[in-house]
Amino acid sequence: MTSLNVERSAVGAPLMLTELERAIMRNQEKDGVTYHSPRACRVPDDEIERRAGKFADEMGIVPGQPLEEIAAKLGGRVNFHGFKGASEDLEWILVHPGGAFDINLPEDTSALRDRYTVAHELGHLYLHFPLVESDGPKSGLVAARKLIIHDRGTMASRQPNQEQIENWERAEEEADRFARALLMRSDDFSDVWNSTNRDQRSKVLACAYFFEVSQNLARWRAKEMGLV
Ligand SMILES: [Zn+2]
Repeated sequence: MTSLNVERSAVGAPLMLTELERAIMRNQEKDGVTYHSPRACRVPDDEIERRAGKFADEMGIVPGQPLEEIAAKLGGRVNFHGFKGASEDLEWILVHPGGAFDINLPEDTSALRDRYTVAHELGHLYLHFPLVESDGPKSGLVAARKLIIHDRGTMASRQPNQEQIENWERAEEEADRFARALLMRSDDFSDVWNSTNRDQRSKVLACAYFFEVSQNLARWRAKEMGLV
């Protein structure tokens, strides 16, 4: 299993820590928390769709609703820190033991991209956190847009092995699928898609507008639902 542990370097060399690593280190030193990267749940796409629908029902999410409200209801915070283009990874979620969480977004990405990112991170929370939570009361989850692995006790990154890469890619796909299903529930999407008889571009625009997503994302959803 992959875990992300960050501790101070024994040799005391100056370290360039990312905001994510600083947050992990703070909680590790203070509360002894170990943050694990997501384990893929390896269920079929239609099960991911079903779980996203269940989550939306439980939380009373309606199309176009700001997801920051949902995060707050769940005991989460959405923070903005850093600018994209810097080397550190700025789109991530840390789920703390017990389920409270922090999501970070860059300050210079579009509102539509941020919305998809928050939905994606909620996917990690709902699909993947329960799988690491069973490891014990000090277990948290860290998910970033890239796979980061540190050996416990050193700051040296090590190369993930093939199995870790495959697991991470799978978990990312699951969170992405969850996000699209959450933002554009399939029944609603079909209704909006079929509400106009005009050309495909108009249908994409109608869906993007209705669900508050980018045209690219609406087009992607239409493809995975077999509508184009
Ligand atoms: Zn992710």
